[in-house]
Amino acid sequence: MKPDDDDLIRPSIRGLTPYSPGKPISEVERELGLTDIIKLASNENPLGPSPAALRAMQEALEEVRLYPDNDSYELRQALSKRIGFPPEQVVVGRGSDEIIHMIGLAFLRPGEESIMPEPPFTLYEFTTQLMGGVQVRVPLRDFTYDLPAMAERFSDKTKLVFFANPNNPTGTMVRKDAVAKFMSELPPQAIMVFDEAYREYVDDPEYPDGLDYVREGANALVLRTFSKVYALAGLRIGYGVGPPHLMKWLQNVREPFNVSSVAQAGALASLDDEDQVKRAAEANREGKKYLYAEFERMGLRYVPTQANFIFVDVGKDSRTVFSQLLRRGVIVRTGDIFGFPTFVRVTIGTPEQNERFIRALEEVLRAL
Ligand code: PMP
Repeated sequence: MKPDDDDLIRPSIRGLTPYSPGKPISEVERELGLTDIIKLASNENPLGPSPAALRAMQEALEEVRLYPDNDSYELRQALSKRIGFPPEQVVVGRGSDEIIHMIGLAFLRPGEESIMPEPPFTLYEFTTQLMGGVQVRVPLRDFTYDLPAMAERFSDKTKLVFFANPNNPTGTMVRKDAVAKFMSELPPQAIMVFDEAYREYVDDPEYPDGLDYVREGANALVLRTFSKVYALAGLRIGYGVGPPHLMKWLQNVREPFNVSSVAQAGALASLDDEDQVKRAAEANREGKKYLYAEFERMGLRYVPTQANFIFVDVGKDSRTVFSQLLRRGVIVRTGDIFGFPTFVRVTIGTPEQNERFIRALEEVLRAL
């Protein structure tokens, strides 16, 4: 006889649903029989990785017979030099996603609270629920993290605060002074998670660096990734930095060999190619200017962004707009999943991709 689900599963996973990512190009090809599809749905870098990283990965393929370096020694040395913290304070994971998961595993006890925005980045919700924690969701204000309202929700149960700066899906950023005030009020048992996945795209000089808080020895963990500006999303590699009293526990929950040798090699070589990062950030700035101008011409309201995507109000049901764009070979993200049913989130692409998106969007909106 089959056991009841209640006997089978851990109670905390009852409410979980599998992650629903941006639609992959291959799926659209299969479903709609289209070719020449552009994906502007997952905030990937349209220019691609550093050629040096591609070469390093090719070379690393020669060694895939062997397990990877469990400690990501060379990469952590290089990161350590780059950011000015000892390698012991750096943990490498399969994307920041895995590090978020590790943070939950190491620190969140059943019944403890994670403060996060509404809508949250999925992994914050997922990890909290998986660990049997309690989500305390605080609505965005003007599409931006509302830190004062989040501070009002501090309690002796607060364990994690998830802070994506810039935020996904809105692209907004919180400035230094507001973060400093929030950090001065953080309860002693709570850990602030600075998720800086999009930091390289920021052009506001008042952008706070989470590492400043690590330097002070605060309960702060900083997450960074090779998926965005470094264009290595398919490799799955990111890293976390924090004070020794937190990092020793994060290292304890890390799976053996969690990061592949190819990923370590690609990330290491990427770090040396500063031009690639500059080019990507510059192209993003140009693309942003073009898209802003086009949205204004079309009379569409958008949220000014500090990241590589724009949250734009298309004024129509986003799922309809999504599927009409899909027929024209353009994949975006609908806003309904974030509670904004007339918005879409579009990744800033190459000039050609941006123009194609705008042409398609105009056609779609004209017909609706
Ligand atoms: N944090 C935020 C805010 C993100 O948008 C993403 C990517 N969608 C991630 C973390 C995870 O990135 P990765 O696991 O690829 O490093």
